[in-house]
Amino acid sequence: MLGNGYMRTDGKYTVSSAYTVLLDSVVGEDPMLFNRLWSGVAPSNISAFVWRVVLDRIQSKANLRRRNIILDDAEARCSICNIEEESTNHLFFSCNLALQVWSYCNLWLGITTAMPRDARPHLLQHELPFLSSRQNDGLRAIWMTAVWSLWTARNNLIFREEQFDAGKIFGLIQVRSWKWLSTIGRGFQQSFSEWCSNPVLLCLKSIH
Ligand SMILES: [Zn+2]
Repeated sequence: MLGNGYMRTDGKYTVSSAYTVLLDSVVGEDPMLFNRLWSGVAPSNISAFVWRVVLDRIQSKANLRRRNIILDDAEARCSICNIEEESTNHLFFSCNLALQVWSYCNLWLGITTAMPRDARPHLLQHELPFLSSRQNDGLRAIWMTAVWSLWTARNNLIFREEQFDAGKIFGLIQVRSWKWLSTIGRGFQQSFSEWCSNPVLLCLKSIH
């Protein structure tokens, strides 16, 4: 993805040049969604990863199968449930075990609407009418944290044989999203226990 034109003379890429390439190559595909993900709340490498999820450009097993890197149907099964093919949308938005993580998140956030099983509408569902644009950026940061945390858990399952534990992943989502939001300023100063007990009306609402 990174061309030679973006390589510095010492052979290393800079973050800003990688960002420029990312912008050039994909922002035209869906600028509205891109802006929602690039709000500056989540670290840029997480934003980049989540954007690739939305575009279905991650190394899911279904994508590896399409490129003939995985040759066998059985090998292309979901790393988490081992039942269905591991497409990007299955892995994050319709795998029963991933859905457990989302249901913990929805319960925590007080979101009761049914969640679509496709990345774009799933993301767009994470917008509350009584929150300001910046406050909704905070809500989407939780969504991004959840996607990132599911991917990390999936990789830990494959490469470290760690058990997929929805409750533990949910706990990590709370910790990571609180850490990210605590660094942006803009009025978000609540303690971690306040974040856990009242994430929307107390904490996200305080962002200005
Ligand atoms: Zn699955």
